[in-house]
Amino acid sequence: MYDIIIVGAGTAGLTAAIYARRAEKSVLVLEQTTYGGQIINTLEIENYPGMYKVSGPEFSKALYDQAITLGAEVEFEKVISVRRDENLFLVGTEDDSYKARAVILATGAEYRKLGIPREEELTGRGVSYCATCDGSFYKDKEVMVNGGGNTALYDAEYLAGICKKVYLVHRRDQFRGDTSLVERIKKLPNVEIILGATVEELIPGEDGKLRAVKLKFLERPSTEVAVAGLFVAIGHIPSVGAFSDLVEQDESGYVIAEEDCRTSYEGVFVAGDVRRKDLRQLVTATADGAEAATSAVDFLNNL
Ligand code: NAP
Repeated sequence: MYDIIIVGAGTAGLTAAIYARRAEKSVLVLEQTTYGGQIINTLEIENYPGMYKVSGPEFSKALYDQAITLGAEVEFEKVISVRRDENLFLVGTEDDSYKARAVILATGAEYRKLGIPREEELTGRGVSYCATCDGSFYKDKEVMVNGGGNTALYDAEYLAGICKKVYLVHRRDQFRGDTSLVERIKKLPNVEIILGATVEELIPGEDGKLRAVKLKFLERPSTEVAVAGLFVAIGHIPSVGAFSDLVEQDESGYVIAEEDCRTSYEGVFVAGDVRRKDLRQLVTATADGAEAATSAVDFLNNL
């Protein structure tokens, strides 16, 4: 039996483990793949305050070692169910079942992919899902942003400050994101908006990096646009599989919780990208981990 079970050993989950252990609670972290979450795939982190240029694997390893050194236990098993049993939570994995008095969900979210050929092979070679992470690699180059939500709009605005030209491509004739933001973007001289278009094909150059994107239109022939980078911003898919019936979620599947990270289910907390929020970054993941652990400790101390 543990005080707290944390589902997910990404940045939010491991930070929660560190805070919970420092409050002397027993902690088990359950992770289905490897520790680190999304950031382990990032070559270089330049926007984590106080750690200029650290690699994703280095950052993740340091976080993992810190949690282990402080006494957190970690098991690499996939969680398939979380349910209440009298005063305890039963967390079922493919191989086992664990008990805890509180649970922190830190399962993250995945970028929604285009699902077209060459997408995987060109990821990191022109195709990116994070403008704030990778935008600076495209300084003074021509890039494309695909999507019509706030993320795509913010990405286009951010990239316009770095890149020579930004094509903003959306599949409908109206943006889903905020009108005021759309109006701001329309005024940027180096942003060209292309509506009613979807990404049909990714075309690599001889160097194996993205050279152009072929766009498909409903009422006119496809067009090839030469760009060095394609920023895909077509939404995220929150990883809520094992606990989708347990806690309240918004229409996109994100777990609803305020800054204290308490979910609609007493004793269940949420941290990181799976929580409904505006900014999904390393700093907000660590902030959530600290908040969720502090709320969970408070909950346990008041039982
Ligand atoms: P989103 O609002 O779900 O928008 C996703 C966009 O991608 C939509 O325009 C959608 O088109 C398009 N799309 C989806 N699948 C597609 C596909 N297969 N091919 C082409 N286009 C596709 O996602 P988001 O922009 O990541 O935002 C997520 C949430 O975070 C939103 O609530 C957003 O407001 C919020 N957010 C807020 C801020 C902020 O306020 N600072 C910043 C970023 C995000 P359709 O419109 O046709 O469906």
